[in-house]
Amino acid sequence: MRYFILFGPPGAGKGTHAGAIGRKYNMKHISTGELLRAEIAAGTELGKHAQELISAGSLVPDEVVEGMIENAFDTIKGYDGFLLDGFPRTLGQAKDLDRILAKRGEKVDAVISIMIPDDIVRERIRHRATVEGRADDASESTITNRINTYHTRTEPLIQFYKEAGNYYEADGYPGTIEQNQKRILDMISEKIGD
Ligand code: ADP
Repeated sequence: MRYFILFGPPGAGKGTHAGAIGRKYNMKHISTGELLRAEIAAGTELGKHAQELISAGSLVPDEVVEGMIENAFDTIKGYDGFLLDGFPRTLGQAKDLDRILAKRGEKVDAVISIMIPDDIVRERIRHRATVEGRADDASESTITNRINTYHTRTEPLIQFYKEAGNYYEADGYPGTIEQNQKRILDMISEKIGD
């Protein structure tokens, strides 16, 4: 099995490009944000707890997302690997992921990082709010908190994976979705293979 991490700030295009990458490599796309939104929609206890944190632009606890990820690894069959989108998002999650995979005799094969500047993060999230209607996209203070959370909690993972030697970066801006997708897929082909 192969394990890729799709990395980048909110609005970088991880969810947008995951489909094409997943199809090309027969990998299952798993978005922790989508899994959490499904729990909220289903009204579960986990969802109720997560909703407050998400609407404030904060992260949910590591053990919550790690439980969802392990459950996905245990139950989803028929793919050559997993494409993790929005996970890991803290150093604790990154280290726990290494342990979770080591138990299975697996490892993180590649971190595919999509980079965009903060002002584009804001622009894209504001636009997405009008299209998808996500509550955490609609408020400026939540967007600001998510950008700050990204810089303080998530950005340190870049150094962590650079040291691990499996960090690959592409620009997610400027250009159309198609141009960005081509840039990202070309980068993956070149660095990781087809
Ligand atoms: P975006 O890519 O715009 O940040 P996501 O759908 O990935 O949106 O995540 C939405 C929210 O879900 C995050 O702001 C956070 O509150 C929560 N979340 C998602 N993934 C994680 C994670 N790995 N750890 C903690 N919280 C998470």
